[in-house]
Amino acid sequence: MARSSTNLDPMALGRSLWQRTAPPFERAGGHFHEAAAEVAIVGGGYSGLSAALHLAMDGRDVALVEAEEPGAGASGRNAAGWLPQYLDRTPADVEKLLGGERGRALNAMIAESARLVPKIVRRHRMQMDMRQSGILVASGEPAQAGAARELAAAWNARGGAVRFTGTAEVQRLGGSDRFAHGLMFEEAGTLNPLAYARGLAHAASLAGARLHCGAPALHLHPAGDGWRLETAAGRIRARHVLIATEGHEANDSLWPGLSRACYRLPMAVVASEPVPALVSRLMPAAVPIADGNKANPLWIMADAEGRLVASLPPPRSDDLAAGAVARHVEAKLNRLHPGLPAIPWSRFWMGHVALSAERIPALRELAPGVHAIGGYSGQGIGAATAAGREYARLIAAGGDPAASRLPLLPLSTVPMRRAVPWLYRHVLAPLGRATDRSYRRPPAAAVED
Ligand SMILES: Cc1cc2nc3c(=O)[nH]c(=O)nc-3n(C[C@H](O)[C@H](O)[C@H](O)COP(=O)(O)OP(=O)(O)OC[C@H]3O[C@@H](n4cnc5c(N)ncnc54)[C@H](O)[C@@H]3O)c2cc1C
Repeated sequence: MARSSTNLDPMALGRSLWQRTAPPFERAGGHFHEAAAEVAIVGGGYSGLSAALHLAMDGRDVALVEAEEPGAGASGRNAAGWLPQYLDRTPADVEKLLGGERGRALNAMIAESARLVPKIVRRHRMQMDMRQSGILVASGEPAQAGAARELAAAWNARGGAVRFTGTAEVQRLGGSDRFAHGLMFEEAGTLNPLAYARGLAHAASLAGARLHCGAPALHLHPAGDGWRLETAAGRIRARHVLIATEGHEANDSLWPGLSRACYRLPMAVVASEPVPALVSRLMPAAVPIADGNKANPLWIMADAEGRLVASLPPPRSDDLAAGAVARHVEAKLNRLHPGLPAIPWSRFWMGHVALSAERIPALRELAPGVHAIGGYSGQGIGAATAAGREYARLIAAGGDPAASRLPLLPLSTVPMRRAVPWLYRHVLAPLGRATDRSYRRPPAAAVED
């Protein structure tokens, strides 16, 4: 399951900036032969770790098995911004999809996740560069202002804190005369993603959860009134099992059909050497910036040392230097800030974003006592943290779905599971880059606040 960890493999966890800047983590592991727990969790990303932390804080007996180390999947290598929204659904879409009550519950969970992340980091005294600076989602298209205003109002009516910004303010915050309007997600922010995964693991251990690293789960069998989880390091008997492996190689020997439940789309991140002066020019209000262009999205943030970090759709080839991968990011940044100096990009790494058919966070009941969790569609820092806590609430309520704000959905299958990621990388992403005309000139008309 684990990919090679050579330095040439962009999927190797060691390539990410966060490996270099996160505090070290002492892996708990080794063979344990036979163990028992009330809840066994498979996967040490934010979903599994947050579930383990909240269950253990609730006094539950929890064991978590992780194939490699905490954060080895998407959680330790992502682009670092927590942003309380869905990839491509409005709160009203979600209420329509799930029904009013369940939809409102999930929307409230997402809105609240922006406050939950910093609260957990502070409460457990996690050591990391975390800034609740807000995140600006900007646009160069005055015609999209109406939809943006509606989205801000929709989130604000559901517990969010989103401010619509007109042309004058978005240009001040974003430092470029090419922006037309924006949404300021006031409670959003950035953190060191791997430090956060490790911090959750440490906090869960302190709360009493048992973490077994280097212990890939292989099979799950019914046993008495619970389940027997076979792993490479030992077996665990448990009443409840949570499979939290989404975004990583799903394992059909663990549960048939699990890997067909989502697309795993490759996503790239590049980071520069420290460039504090450039960072001040690109983000003059020290607020990270995302743009709303779905075909060729731009995301920029900076770490504590002034390194510029950008995420982007994947390059066609694995075999590229960071500078070559960042060429398209630079092209877009140059439209926003004509005459930018060369940027000393030094790191490029990749991971997989898991996209389910519904593209909303959900629990899937695979059998009585067995659930899979996921569906964050690239917005998992806040959502997976919140989802893990909702699972703990479900267990505390004896399995009553009404106690959890996560919807309980059946295991579904996405069409063309293997073809879509290939098409995305080799056709759709290059097409999106080639046809992206955004920010070529200042907006034709100013938009009021
Ligand atoms: C490049 C990239 C950029 C992203 N940027 C952002 C961003 O800026 N903001 C944001 O909010 N989200 C972002 N995301 C998404 C976010 O990282 C994910 O949604 C989130 O980390 C998912 O957490 P998870 O716990 O569900 O899965 P993961 O973090 O993938 O964890 C799954 C874990 O399961 C383990 N595992 C797998 N199989 C087994 C097995 N059989 N036995 C034991 N363990 C197993 C894996 O080793 C892994 O550690 C990004 C993702 C990527 C890839």
